[in-house]
Amino acid sequence: MELSTSEQAAITSGHDFWHTEGVESAGIPSVTVTDGPHGVRMQASGGDLLAGVPATCFPPAVASASTWDPELLRRMGAALGDECRAQDVAVLLGPGVNLKRSPLGGRNFEYFSEDPILTGVLATEWVRGLQSKGVGASLKHFAVNSQETDRMRVSADVDERTLREMYLRAFHKVVTRAQPWTVMCAYNKVNGVYASEHHWLLTEVLRGEWGFEGLVVSDWGAVVDRVKAVAAGLDLTMPGPDADGDRALVAAVESGRLAPEALRRSAELVRKMIEKAGDRPAGTYDPDAHHALAREIAGRAIVLLKNDGDLLPLDGTQRIAVLGEFARTPRYQGGGSSQITPTKLDNALAEITAVAGQTTFAPGYTGTGDADESLLAEAVAVAREADVAVVFVGSVHETEGADRESIDLPAAQLALVERVAAANPNTVVVLSNGAVIATKPWDEQVPALIEGWLLGQAGGSAIADVLFGRVNPSGRLAETIPVKLADHPSYLDFPGEHGHVRYGEGLHVGYRGFDARGQEVAYPFGFGLSYTTFGYGAARATATATGIDIRVPVTNTGGRDGREVVQVYVSLPGSRVRRAPRELKAFASVPIASGDTAEAVLTVDREDLAYWDTRLGRWIVEGGEYLIEVGASSRDVRASTTVHVAGDPARVPLTTESSVGEWLADPRGAEVLGAAFASAAGDGPTAAMTVNPEMLMMLGSLPLSRMAAFPGSPLDAASLDKMVEAAN
Ligand code: BGC
Repeated sequence: MELSTSEQAAITSGHDFWHTEGVESAGIPSVTVTDGPHGVRMQASGGDLLAGVPATCFPPAVASASTWDPELLRRMGAALGDECRAQDVAVLLGPGVNLKRSPLGGRNFEYFSEDPILTGVLATEWVRGLQSKGVGASLKHFAVNSQETDRMRVSADVDERTLREMYLRAFHKVVTRAQPWTVMCAYNKVNGVYASEHHWLLTEVLRGEWGFEGLVVSDWGAVVDRVKAVAAGLDLTMPGPDADGDRALVAAVESGRLAPEALRRSAELVRKMIEKAGDRPAGTYDPDAHHALAREIAGRAIVLLKNDGDLLPLDGTQRIAVLGEFARTPRYQGGGSSQITPTKLDNALAEITAVAGQTTFAPGYTGTGDADESLLAEAVAVAREADVAVVFVGSVHETEGADRESIDLPAAQLALVERVAAANPNTVVVLSNGAVIATKPWDEQVPALIEGWLLGQAGGSAIADVLFGRVNPSGRLAETIPVKLADHPSYLDFPGEHGHVRYGEGLHVGYRGFDARGQEVAYPFGFGLSYTTFGYGAARATATATGIDIRVPVTNTGGRDGREVVQVYVSLPGSRVRRAPRELKAFASVPIASGDTAEAVLTVDREDLAYWDTRLGRWIVEGGEYLIEVGASSRDVRASTTVHVAGDPARVPLTTESSVGEWLADPRGAEVLGAAFASAAGDGPTAAMTVNPEMLMMLGSLPLSRMAAFPGSPLDAASLDKMVEAAN
């Protein structure tokens, strides 16, 4: 049944905070949408927006991304789908695929990585898993929403190549591979235009170029002007109701300010999404099985950063001192809309004690992370009496809505680490944090360091699994740990001011920037140790019509079964455009038993080799000898090879504004220009220049039209158009 204009307006804004609007007479029910992304945060009845019905708190993206395992992400998505069905949720508001541009980003814990391919591949599987259960995803926040400071107004000012290659790439991957039911537009402006009113983003790129078939929902409160938003391609405004906006839409259609098709199409997309949600049967889930999955993912997310003298794993016979309040009161998720009320909550102290039989404990600092001299002294005394001291420290506040001010450990916790390390040479530090914490120089005082992120509700048992070797660590850093904040590529341009943030580092986000400047880092992107060791054989690369196939044998050369995350970095020496020294293009998490060899098989998609050519306004794969570096991290290349890749045709048409150099670099252009020079040779002073190589170099930057204007020029202004015609 065709909806009236006012019904169309009504269903394109929400019924309330978490429900779409229904139209009873047209048989359109209202459905539930809710956050997202690492658990199902169904608001409990009552007014408190953040009080949720208990649900499994899976590891936030900072942790799940550190698994580098798409298959795990798919299982997590499917489990979330089951929980959505149990709660009758139609759309789960996730995943968040914004790039971690700065380690200060307040929502970094909700995002995957500083790399768009790692982000895109993992998020694709999360969406596939969720949607396999008949529940829709909401890919967010589209786009360039990489900071919390002034998040509802700030303009992210970013050049088109960087936008395409870095900030849109993960969105593109997920949209084209997994067709999320919805995409959520960001709060911020992109190059001066609100994302919610950005026709180029929402319509030309998302739908036109990428073929997105779903609906665009606003972030909660992102719509400033409903009419402009619908005209730009935004379909559903949340939350609702928005009676004023509904009326404004009807008036705009009636006055001809808004094309009726635009509103009709948005309403149709909302109706289709609701219909899709209606197809799915209700479901149930087993909270214990989901807790076990949360534990498995958390165990796989933990990154072993340091393990001198093989202090870890512990063998269960040592006297263990557990120190730090976070061991007892875990930091396991960040604040804001993603906050889950967990079905249960493991703590590391109890889990370690269960394995070791007994432990001694001292909190070391207060629950708010403040220093307390007597707590410190107690912790040091406890550490001194033990064989091993395991110290839990980390970040205190990480929340949506605010960026961090520092990446340093809070002073009270730093003091605990330093004093315990001085008292006990066998000190293990376990970090709990949603975004990078600087580890220099204090990590030099401790033999073992575990990056424990925010691990979700089963983090406590997962940490015990790793400490005692029940899980052999295979997590890898999805973001660089710098020596200090000021080294970071984003440092000088974050978080901007007066309503603008300039993405000054351009393409050189994260490791790309550190590598381009040859800068030392504390722990590089892709890094992580294991309790075993791996040896790499020779890599082979073959170009195919769809990309590059890479094979490399990897041997587990140590005494324990383990998992290696094989990483493929690609570069093109001598490229005609600026590129980072190495870019991640493929990866695989490969289980290998002790003594065994496995062949890692990886594929680089041809589209991922392309750069965005701003002159041609399209993606170009440059032809040439690509360098394929296979490694255990971005700074630990174990095997390399080269492969020839055929390029895309990419001729930039010559114009009268093209320079002499550009004309000469083009075979046809060189012929035409050469002929013009030859016919003018001997015709005066400037003509002589054209036969002198040094002079020609100097003239190289002159646009043709400008050269023709010089007195005595060998070029005749009247014949330029003919030359252009002949050259193209
Ligand atoms: C957040 C979104 C979230 C929405 C609904 C917004 O403040 O930016 O990520 O999905 O609220 O809670």
